[in-house]
Amino acid sequence: MDINELYDPEFRKLIKSKKLTVIIPVGSIEQHGAHLPISTDSDIVTEIASRLAKKCGFIVFPTISYGVSWEHEPLFNTSLKVNNLRKILDDIITSLTKNHIKRIIILNGHHGNLGVMGQYVIYQDNDYKKKFGIKVSKFSYWHFMKQQFDHAGFVETSLMLAISNKVKMKKAKKGLVTNGLSDMEKRKIGKLATKPGGFPKVTKNGVWGDPTGATKKDGQRFLSEIVRNLAKECQS
Ligand SMILES: [Zn+2]
Repeated sequence: MDINELYDPEFRKLIKSKKLTVIIPVGSIEQHGAHLPISTDSDIVTEIASRLAKKCGFIVFPTISYGVSWEHEPLFNTSLKVNNLRKILDDIITSLTKNHIKRIIILNGHHGNLGVMGQYVIYQDNDYKKKFGIKVSKFSYWHFMKQQFDHAGFVETSLMLAISNKVKMKKAKKGLVTNGLSDMEKRKIGKLATKPGGFPKVTKNGVWGDPTGATKKDGQRFLSEIVRNLAKECQS
């Protein structure tokens, strides 16, 4: 269920009657090459959250559409500082706790947000969690698929083809392809790519991977795999 389908009296009754799990999706606003919308990460994570909610009976909250994307400058991005995104998440979790919601999933859709997901915040504070009896899980959706993830490459473009009609395949261009590079070279490039302004430096055109062979069918396959594996993780 989506939060925009709920009304206060029913929702409070629902909270009282059973153990609810809510999902907070977190995306980004950043360049995704010439062929994918700037909102791509937010679009994908919103869709995955909604499918996961349907499958598991969870409630989806509005996506935090802004993330930490300084690595994409001077290509377009609208970014939050790590600390500010952390504070937003802290505030939301604190507020949900006060409303007696005790199961929270933060579903991340953007690599640059990983720093926040891994930091010491209220949702990792064991004393706080014990005191209020809350459980906060944090997942990045691409960890729930076998295929190596990319940025505006084959995987992300296929995912977008499966959920959106805004993909401009004619404009899709191959970017950085790391096949054949040594692990050390890959690590070096990966490290540089996450520094502010580093992503366009290593990829040249802002694309990591090759989107030209992307298909809707592959996207649908990835989506089912991700939702299936996430559901398994959430129910375990
Ligand atoms: Zn992306």
